[in-house]
Amino acid sequence: MNLILMGLPGAGKGTQAERIVQEYGLPHISTGDMFRAAIKEGTELGNEAGSYMDAGQLVPDEVTVGIVRERLAKDDCQKGFLLDGFPRTVSQAESLDRLLANLDRRLDAVLHINVDKNQLMERLTGRRICRQCGATYHVTFNPPQEAGVCDKCNGELYQRDDDQEETVKSRLDVNIEQQEPLLNLYEEKGILKTIDGNQDINDVFASVESILGGIK
Ligand code: AMP
Repeated sequence: MNLILMGLPGAGKGTQAERIVQEYGLPHISTGDMFRAAIKEGTELGNEAGSYMDAGQLVPDEVTVGIVRERLAKDDCQKGFLLDGFPRTVSQAESLDRLLANLDRRLDAVLHINVDKNQLMERLTGRRICRQCGATYHVTFNPPQEAGVCDKCNGELYQRDDDQEETVKSRLDVNIEQQEPLLNLYEEKGILKTIDGNQDINDVFASVESILGGIK
């Protein structure tokens, strides 16, 4: 199965990717993870990608499409793959189509985990971190016993700047704008599968399974 996983920050893409990989044995190809690994290893690719990532920009297509092309040519992708974080633009989507056509393959489905913006705001702004030991909590979904105090070390809990409402809102808006044309494109192609990501993790995965069951 040749799949793309899409969803906004906080939609639970990472969790579902993990379960899909476990259940279906597909390699998880996350361009963000690949760039982060390259940065850690200090490779030339890492240096180049890192400068764009630090600036909050997309890595240029020639680099990004290049690493995806190399990755898809590897043996473990011959039975299928789960792309995550790629494509990010219509131009990348077109490159992917060409790339797959050259390999005599095509996409089977684009799984879109769809969560209401309000729900995403709640998920993303509710995170609290202990100043002392770094433990993480969520004010609604994983609250400490006493508000503002770490269960483990009694340290003070705080909210990271990245998790403040205005920052989260603008991050979501940028992502919504980026995602929209891709969703339209795959809808037109008839392969977009939208999944209700407001449900609990197991129910979201059950929806994924029922879609993938129709493909195999
Ligand atoms: P992610 O972990 O998917 O949020 O990606 C982290 C960063 O890596 C992004 O902000 C971009 O700078 C870069 N990146 C990841 N995927 C792509 C892509 N498909 N095209 C361009 N840049 C990407």
